[in-house]
Amino acid sequence: MSYARVLCVGLVGVTGHVVQVEADLASGLPTVAITGLPDTALHEARDRVRAAVVNSGRTWPNRRITINLLPATLPKYGSSFDLAIAAAVLGSAGELPLLPLERVVVLGELGLDGTVRPVRGVLPMVAAAARAGHDRVIVPVENAAEAAVIPGVRVRAVDTLHRLVTFVTEGSPLLEPPQGAPAAAPPVPDLADVAGQLLGRRALEVAAAGGHHLALLGPPGAGKTMLAERLPSVLPELDDDAAMEVTALHSIAGLIPPGGQLIRRPPFQAPHHTATVPALVGGGSGLARPGAVSLAHRGVLFLDEAPEFAKGALDALRQPLEHGRVRLARSRGAAEYPARVQLVLAANPCPCAKPSGDVTCECSPLTRRRYLGRLSGPLLDRIDVQVTVQPVRAAELTEVAGSGESSAAVASRVAAARAAAAARWSGLGRRINAELPGPVLRRPPWCLPAPDTRELRARLDAGSLSARGFDRVLRLAWTIADLDGRDRPDADDVREAIGLRTGEAL
Ligand SMILES: [Zn+2]
Repeated sequence: MSYARVLCVGLVGVTGHVVQVEADLASGLPTVAITGLPDTALHEARDRVRAAVVNSGRTWPNRRITINLLPATLPKYGSSFDLAIAAAVLGSAGELPLLPLERVVVLGELGLDGTVRPVRGVLPMVAAAARAGHDRVIVPVENAAEAAVIPGVRVRAVDTLHRLVTFVTEGSPLLEPPQGAPAAAPPVPDLADVAGQLLGRRALEVAAAGGHHLALLGPPGAGKTMLAERLPSVLPELDDDAAMEVTALHSIAGLIPPGGQLIRRPPFQAPHHTATVPALVGGGSGLARPGAVSLAHRGVLFLDEAPEFAKGALDALRQPLEHGRVRLARSRGAAEYPARVQLVLAANPCPCAKPSGDVTCECSPLTRRRYLGRLSGPLLDRIDVQVTVQPVRAAELTEVAGSGESSAAVASRVAAARAAAAARWSGLGRRINAELPGPVLRRPPWCLPAPDTRELRARLDAGSLSARGFDRVLRLAWTIADLDGRDRPDADDVREAIGLRTGEAL
């Protein structure tokens, strides 16, 4: 026999496609050719696989070897094809009877010594195998728990190429995925820890209920970070589809903790202001690594000290915020990752970042304007809720300590408000108020009675609010009414919305 075929999976974005790895031996000078759109990593695979085979005590066929990855049109990245290539080559040489591997999907990178190394993206790969009707997979032992998350798939694991070979030749057992309940998800910080901060808490609740982006301005020590990192605790848990998508992105980034399980909590990502563009939006060689904006997909992207981010980094966020997706240029074509995030910005009022009222701050009004101006064009314009928070005074701390409402209480109001919005907009194909196009809210049947929007229109006419800002206030007013369990916003809701939009709320 001089031909063999083993199944594997390649990823394009978060979507896996079953790939057939074919190996053919022919007489002639001993060479190895890999065809089927391989990237650099696949060329390296040739040397890795040969060393692994030899160091596992097997004979590398000294013939002309052609390895073909089908379908040829599918771009293939990364090192997860190694194990399938090794099996196909040994199979074509008659060293391995491949019957036990028929219809089995084989994933894994090989070390030169023949060990099988974990690969990124096992979760979406196994999901793709299952979708294609392949219910048996062999994965690196470190990825076994993650693979076992996919229901209806029989997962077996290997730690070495030798183990795979003896399974095929002698029927010796493969490794089993770890049994027992997966580790509990790490606890999420709770709003009950936040004393005082009535405005900050209100802004957070409104942002959560309507899916609005949020900017928190204020001096250091005002508790901006504390508020921001509690946003996931009041958002609804991810449904099955969202959990699968989010977990797949974390899998591709190689960030699934041991004992893997589906991510149910909206993720929270807080990249440092020195983060590079690839760290924010994704990139890297081989299988592109999702950036913070994709790891925060269906969760919260928090930019602390936002004006300190490089201009290029802030600009790079524009496209994902607009489209909910990131497009990364690759050596062949492009990779796309989902990136639908709720953005939370925090900023000090001036670059010196002195506490409020500190007399040593000598920043001029112009310096302050310029500082926040770094955010204006690309980001601030997309943000519905903008509030200024102040440090909690000692009196406030002692008065309200321990009386802060818990995240669970806020989350139940958020869930009810979201349900109301989803029911109202279902005919328009929208779920949250933040997604509503402005014109819809300005026209019947959704426009508000003129008396209720008098102040809003006056601000527009006076130029203190832009047309976009006008629409943002309307969206916020709907969210405020939803939180209060009313069908429509009234004048008070509009007034509060103006305050939350312009940062004038007190
Ligand atoms: Zn200053």
